[in-house]
Amino acid sequence: MNWISNYVRPKINSLFSRREVPENLWTKCPECGTMLFHRELAENLNVCSTCDHHMNISPRDRFAALFDGGIFTEVEVPVPLADPLQFRDQKRYPDRMKAAQKTTGEKEAMLVVEGEIARTQVVAAAQDFSFMAGSMGMYVGNAIIAAAERAVKLKCPLILFAAAGGARMQEGILSLMQMPRTTVAVQMLREAGLPYICILTHPTTGGVTASYAMLGDVQIAEPNALICFAGPRVIEQTIREKLPEGFQRAEYLLDHGMLDRVTHRKAMREELVTIIRMLMNQPPAIKGDLPAPEPKPVIDLPPPPTPEAVVDDKAAE
Ligand SMILES: [Zn+2]
Repeated sequence: MNWISNYVRPKINSLFSRREVPENLWTKCPECGTMLFHRELAENLNVCSTCDHHMNISPRDRFAALFDGGIFTEVEVPVPLADPLQFRDQKRYPDRMKAAQKTTGEKEAMLVVEGEIARTQVVAAAQDFSFMAGSMGMYVGNAIIAAAERAVKLKCPLILFAAAGGARMQEGILSLMQMPRTTVAVQMLREAGLPYICILTHPTTGGVTASYAMLGDVQIAEPNALICFAGPRVIEQTIREKLPEGFQRAEYLLDHGMLDRVTHRKAMREELVTIIRMLMNQPPAIKGDLPAPEPKPVIDLPPPPTPEAVVDDKAAE
């Protein structure tokens, strides 16, 4: 058998590795194992076309699909002190941050933007699970406060897409302090009478579930999203009992009254339009291809110069 492993196998491997297919063209669905072509997957908003599994989607891709014409403006978030605890596990915290920034191309785990959805002004924030598991540190706290303040200033709703492994342990107690801070931010919206809509995506766990992600006026989740404080494995080990099928998944939580809706990613925009317009006391959105409204007449401008006047000016020169 030696000649097979020593000679034949390396030969076969070398034949295949010569083809140099860029690895990122295909993504394997973690649920059903289907290989999905990157362009089709992006068109499908990162939802598997075979089993409908909702994979992570970056905040920018999500917002491009959500806002009218894919247009949105970033809201500035105050940058907190970097690495206040000089934290180090296998790697230094600043090194982990740098690596995450390089792979995602983002500053931090949350993006706050403003724009229009079906011509209704909104502020939206989304957590980036690919950035250190979307963990909630001081920056995420600042981002939610900035988003709430902006929504209050513009008198518009705040839409939040949550996805997190929990609080960021590298910031210790400072990350846990974001739970009351973000709760106060949500309260600001409530006092201003503005809607706060939470969309929970897979997975939303830990301190994020225990604070701003559960305080929405309307709680929506994406299908089959895991939403919990402690995960099913921890609970199973603690209570030493078999957990029911689908425990802590979106559909299970909808059945048990933790959620208002479970909505497919592709139907999310439409659903948000309906909810926002209802809560903001606006008439229902216009469906179909109606012509754009006439632009308002511009007043208080001097009349345009007549062609004779332009000619006269030239002659004077
Ligand atoms: Zn799949």
